[in-house]
Amino acid sequence: MNEHTDKPRSNSYDAVVIGGGHNGLVCAAYLAKAGKKVLVVERRQVLGGAAVSEETVKGFTFSTFSYVVSLFRPHIIRELDLVRHGLQIIPMETTYNPLPGDKGLVRWADSGKTRDEIARFSPKDASLYPEFGLAMGRLSRFTKNVIDTTAPQPASLDPRELMKMLRLGRHLRDLDPEMRYLNLKLLTMSAVDFLHEWFESEPLVPSMAGSGIIGTFLGIRSPGTAYVLLHHYMGEIDGAFRAWGFSKGGTGQISIACANAAESFGAEIIAGAGVDHVKIRNGRAVGVVLENGDEIKAATVISSLDPNRTFLKLVGERELPGEFVSNIRRYKNRGSSGKVNLALDRLPSFRDGRPGISHLKGDITIAPSVDYVERAYDEAKYGEFSKRPFLNIVIPSLSDPSVAPPGKHVLSAFVQYAPYNIREGAENWPEKRDAFGDAVIDTIEEFCPDIRECIVGKQVLSPWDIEKITGLTEGNIFQGELSLEQLAFLRPVAEWSRYRSPVRNLWMCGSGTHPGGGVMGAPGELAAKTMLGEGGV
Ligand SMILES: Cc1cc2nc3c(=O)[nH]c(=O)nc-3n(C[C@H](O)[C@H](O)[C@H](O)COP(=O)(O)OP(=O)(O)OC[C@H]3O[C@@H](n4cnc5c(N)ncnc54)[C@H](O)[C@@H]3O)c2cc1C
Repeated sequence: MNEHTDKPRSNSYDAVVIGGGHNGLVCAAYLAKAGKKVLVVERRQVLGGAAVSEETVKGFTFSTFSYVVSLFRPHIIRELDLVRHGLQIIPMETTYNPLPGDKGLVRWADSGKTRDEIARFSPKDASLYPEFGLAMGRLSRFTKNVIDTTAPQPASLDPRELMKMLRLGRHLRDLDPEMRYLNLKLLTMSAVDFLHEWFESEPLVPSMAGSGIIGTFLGIRSPGTAYVLLHHYMGEIDGAFRAWGFSKGGTGQISIACANAAESFGAEIIAGAGVDHVKIRNGRAVGVVLENGDEIKAATVISSLDPNRTFLKLVGERELPGEFVSNIRRYKNRGSSGKVNLALDRLPSFRDGRPGISHLKGDITIAPSVDYVERAYDEAKYGEFSKRPFLNIVIPSLSDPSVAPPGKHVLSAFVQYAPYNIREGAENWPEKRDAFGDAVIDTIEEFCPDIRECIVGKQVLSPWDIEKITGLTEGNIFQGELSLEQLAFLRPVAEWSRYRSPVRNLWMCGSGTHPGGGVMGAPGELAAKTMLGEGGV
């Protein structure tokens, strides 16, 4: 698996999907399952886009970009039989927040242990923590109704859309008034302000608020970040809410399972075959032209690339209404994250003096204080990468030994902030890459003094590198920020949030469409079901 030719078997299809990221593959699988003749065309040799596993250092498998999974929709796993096709999720049991001069804060799957840990910093926080979890769980269940269906169209008078609004209204009505107010606060407040309504202790608030800034060019004190916090609470594994895990074999295994499923239904996949442009005749998409000049005809063309790349590069402004082009230009990508992947010849030792390694098996957040994380953002605002960044670290080899040789480890650090638009200009990132990697390793060294001695290989990815490798515009990890003005019926732009585009027979199915980024498969699934339901393919 994962070895595909760059030549299609035919030159005409019911549907051609541009991009073999996990959403393109999910979309292709649903269409092929419905009996359509489908081709997926991927530019890289490896499938998966931002959800990919690669042996970048011999013997060590890196989840090059996306590193933890939780949002993947359980019904897609069932409907595409992804477990049979190789998907296996290993649950993560801890969130660890190391602190200078202290043994840090660990939140465990065991709620009693978590309460004891939090009580060291604040007995009040410890007593409120379970209540907070319950409230977020209830709001997540409400939000699940939004992410598992196409976005409602509030401006439409179509009776089906009005019914959908009514259904959502009913779900909202089912929440008690307190929850409705909380929902509103979540949509409008900063992660820190929202959490401060509940909690007071330093290590708890920044550790929790951190998930509100992942993938956004905002600070933990910026309004709007509380919502992203919820996005990270919505994870579900085997029906258990708020569960995160590793994909066995790395995140790319999810994409491979999706590709296997698509092929089992008869879809064809070619790799190493970039699309140069969408062929348009009389305002209709009629196929794609590859970078090598080959032309493939299709009744329907579906792009899983981000809106900017799809419309401004592969379609071209001439084929699009001016207002739509302006809206796509306004759509915010603003990459703000980087990634450092390390191959280690042994497990580094943390300064904290905590016995054992079980607290290292989940994610490790470097966010010692609210000011620390906000200061990291201050530098990014003015075009610098953070010298002491917020880090979300995982060591997946502790839970999945298949990704490293025996006794050795893979450590991945997701880094916030690394602005795409550095002061010197994005094209100067290659000269800054080493300094950026050093800042990340220096930060880890403050907690693991021997980290440098353990490193036998590394990969440093700036947002510029992310863009170059995956095609994600400005390296934005979600194909566009998950800010309120770019969500639901506004994603990617108002009037075009139902996977259609102004070009007839050209559809979208990537993370730049509702319900957005993260390895969840939902945009691919909802796009396919919408097309099938509306005779789009
Ligand atoms: C560094 C990083 C860390 C992340 N961490 C997490 C995480 O831990 N958990 C999580 O849930 N999400 C995470 N994400 C987000 C998540 O990975 C993405 O939202 C998701 O994978 C996007 O999937 P997609 O299929 O919509 O698009 P993509 O993965 O962007 O797929 C698009 C595909 O199109 C291909 N392509 C581009 N141009 C062309 C062309 N011209 N012709 C043909 N093919 C082309 C690309 O190679 C790619 O395969 C992370 C992302 C990044 C970058």
